[in-house]
Amino acid sequence: MAKKEKRKRKNTAQSLMVRTWAYFVGMTVIMLTILWVTALIVFRGYYTSLRENSLVTQCSALSRLYNGVATEDFKNEVESAVAQNTMRVTVFTIDGDKSASELTEQDITVTLNVDPIDGVGDSEGVVSFLLKLDEKFVEKIQADSKIHTYHLRNRHSAGANGYNLVVGCSKQTANGKAYILITSPVQANNTMDSIVINQLLIVTILCVVISVSLSYVFSKNITKPITQYASVARRMGNGEKVRFGEVGFIEYDDLARALNHATEEIEKTENQRREFMANVGHDLRTPLTMVKAYAEMIRDLSGRDEKKRTEHCGVIIDEVDRLTLLVNDILDLSKLQSGTRVPEYATVNLSETVGNVLDRFAIYREKHGYVFNLDVQSDCVTQCDERMIEQVLYNLIGNAISYTGEDKTVSVTLAKRDGEIVFAVTDTGKGISPEETDKVWERYYRVNQEKRTVVGSGMGLSIVKNILDLHKAEYGVKSVVGKGSTFYFKLTSKS
Ligand code: ADP
Repeated sequence: MAKKEKRKRKNTAQSLMVRTWAYFVGMTVIMLTILWVTALIVFRGYYTSLRENSLVTQCSALSRLYNGVATEDFKNEVESAVAQNTMRVTVFTIDGDKSASELTEQDITVTLNVDPIDGVGDSEGVVSFLLKLDEKFVEKIQADSKIHTYHLRNRHSAGANGYNLVVGCSKQTANGKAYILITSPVQANNTMDSIVINQLLIVTILCVVISVSLSYVFSKNITKPITQYASVARRMGNGEKVRFGEVGFIEYDDLARALNHATEEIEKTENQRREFMANVGHDLRTPLTMVKAYAEMIRDLSGRDEKKRTEHCGVIIDEVDRLTLLVNDILDLSKLQSGTRVPEYATVNLSETVGNVLDRFAIYREKHGYVFNLDVQSDCVTQCDERMIEQVLYNLIGNAISYTGEDKTVSVTLAKRDGEIVFAVTDTGKGISPEETDKVWERYYRVNQEKRTVVGSGMGLSIVKNILDLHKAEYGVKSVVGKGSTFYFKLTSKS
């Protein structure tokens, strides 16, 4: 099933490099499309409106110049405007100011007609052209002196898609009302189009070639560190000691640092695992050796001597107790860490629990001269797994007894403060240096790696940490080297 899924993922997975490359090429295609659309659609409209504006300007300039007589100066002006703008200028008058619908050839007198090919030419054909003009347009230019425009569709003069742009106005002169008309064929940019298309084609081919090759190089460069990291990670998987190099990009350097951190953590865990195995091995072997040695002694020597036999059996029992303690702690810790042991919360009077745990240590006070300073507030109620917290208390008080100083004094306080219940146990021992305070919570960690003189599995604080973490409790140790340590934890008060 898993294999099938893996194969499926492999089939659908894509190369990041190819994908990045495709993105780059896709971006070029989008840009080129925008270029084509703007060149062929947007700019074409822009070109015609530009042309229309220019003719309107010309018409208004000529209208200002014209005073009713086609003087040489006026003719020259018209000729140069016509030459520059590919247009025809016609100045004419309408006899009797007849309305557009009634116009006949006889009513129109052409004063001046200039076109780009013949220059100042005769008016032949012009009159019939003028008669073909849209009546509404003629009415408009007759009505006021404003400039009016209209598009005259004419298949012959401007090609299938073209039209004539007609701009005209009237001018009241001393010799009567004159009309100035400018006509210019506006091709549907067929020639423009082919020039632009040719240029665009060249630009497109160049862009595509450059973009495909450059983006290949870019994508390869962008994804190169990932490929390198993958090969370094594979070497790491094969047990090699590796380091992920930084490449000068923030994101990759972050990744490299994270991977290096992970590598260090894995190494640390591996070292801890080895140390743990060695320590457990050692701690299991010692009592086992003792059990074997004393059992042999009973068999060979003290079997019939009741006093000695009892003494030797006592040692065997002690060592088996020690083994049991060690094995129980290993099991507890592994259950806590694997999540199989979960807290069963209940409302617990912690004052009573502390009292019960202290009772179990009464023998130290009674027989071994330990002094317990107690300041336990009553009715400190909280929500917790009582058995787990009992284990925490047992470990912390046990440690304080084990590591306290010559005066054999251990202080225990339990108090309700600001909605919290604070437990603290203080000893007068050697204390723990600030560098060690974080490490004591690691399983099997021993300050100075000293050999334990007291019974303990070396996992006590690790169990404490796991339980308090599960309870989301705040906890810690405050210690002054040479003066002693205080281990504490806080739980939310329920009362
Ligand atoms: P163990 O006590 O069995 O070695 P623990 O996990 O309980 O294991 O403690 C880890 C280490 O932390 C101890 O070996 C000891 O070096 C240090 N430690 C714990 N409690 C104290 C304490 N009250 N004073 C000084 N050192 C302590």
